[in-house]
Amino acid sequence: MLGGWEIGRLAGISVRIHWSFLVLPALVAWSTWSASGAEAALGAVVFVLAIFGCVVLHELGHALAARRFGIGTEDITLLPIGGVARLERMPRQPVQELLIALAGPAVNVVIAGAIMTGIWLSLSSVAPLLDSDVLSGSFLGRLFWANVGLVIFNLLPAFPMDGGRVFRSLLAMRLPYARATELAGGLATVMAVLFGLFGLLGNPMLILVAAFVYFAARSEVTMARVQQQTSGVNTGDLMQRHFQTVQARARVADLAPWLPRTSQRDFPVIDGRRMVGMIRDTDVLAAMASGQGERLVGEMMRRDVPTAMRDDEVLESFATMQNKGLGSLPVADAGMLVGLLSQEQVRRWLEFLHSHSTPSTTRPQFQERNERWIWN
Ligand SMILES: [Zn+2]
Repeated sequence: MLGGWEIGRLAGISVRIHWSFLVLPALVAWSTWSASGAEAALGAVVFVLAIFGCVVLHELGHALAARRFGIGTEDITLLPIGGVARLERMPRQPVQELLIALAGPAVNVVIAGAIMTGIWLSLSSVAPLLDSDVLSGSFLGRLFWANVGLVIFNLLPAFPMDGGRVFRSLLAMRLPYARATELAGGLATVMAVLFGLFGLLGNPMLILVAAFVYFAARSEVTMARVQQQTSGVNTGDLMQRHFQTVQARARVADLAPWLPRTSQRDFPVIDGRRMVGMIRDTDVLAAMASGQGERLVGEMMRRDVPTAMRDDEVLESFATMQNKGLGSLPVADAGMLVGLLSQEQVRRWLEFLHSHSTPSTTRPQFQERNERWIWN
């Protein structure tokens, strides 16, 4: 979660603004006010908000394209540098990544086209558009050029821009994913250096963009390597089979003394034979500290806990934990709770792979054990 406030929902997706987003309209208002007065300041703020409206629609384009491939979107967050749509997972097919990446800029093409058509229909000429740019001209003229700018900027073939993903997905149709990412990351690094050089010639914003692109490219390449190393290793291969559960009707105070005796930090909560939630050690300790030890685990537990399947890829389960803010994920098989996977376990395993750096023949081998302790 990037934080921020929800300002509404579009197509069922939460749209949020990060607090730092407010800096930009405030800055624009202040600088325009001091230069040209209150009315100009109001106009400038409305224009900035209109651009961010276009950015939200751009992100919605990504989100709806992803939805067509069965990939949900956690939320869309507006930052001063633009928008971010957090997809639940990355698409597996290059063609899916290509279409999802193109869907965002396509929205801005449609907006720019609609403005152009509207002006042409009302004036029988697009001259007013050609006479304006992002900074001067009519409101619609400026908005037109802002959208053109969004398309061009986003299609630069560098991560984390959409163009970088387009380039990678085109390469990935012919090459292994990790190799495609390395090549796309290499191009992004070259572009970052170019941005940096132009930046040094007098545009400090470009230096910022250069750093942004450079680090995004690095992290994409690392991610792709990790993905290559971990592909084929399933949640069931890594999960703990030996773990403890707790009954929903147990008192929190009954659970607390057990915590120091185990390294497990999240406990699936059982009601009868069903798993109904999960409780974390820190929640138990917080409840004890605030004198709520008599309350039932079932009242204090977290309820919205998804389960992983044995054959889900480990990285997919890891992403679920991160997206949902969970320390561990229960693993189910045929309706039975068969294991528990923790973020920490996955991290340790990734470190292990990293330190061995040979491609993964390292499918973890554990002894099969099915003991389970249930507190009453
Ligand atoms: Zn985009």
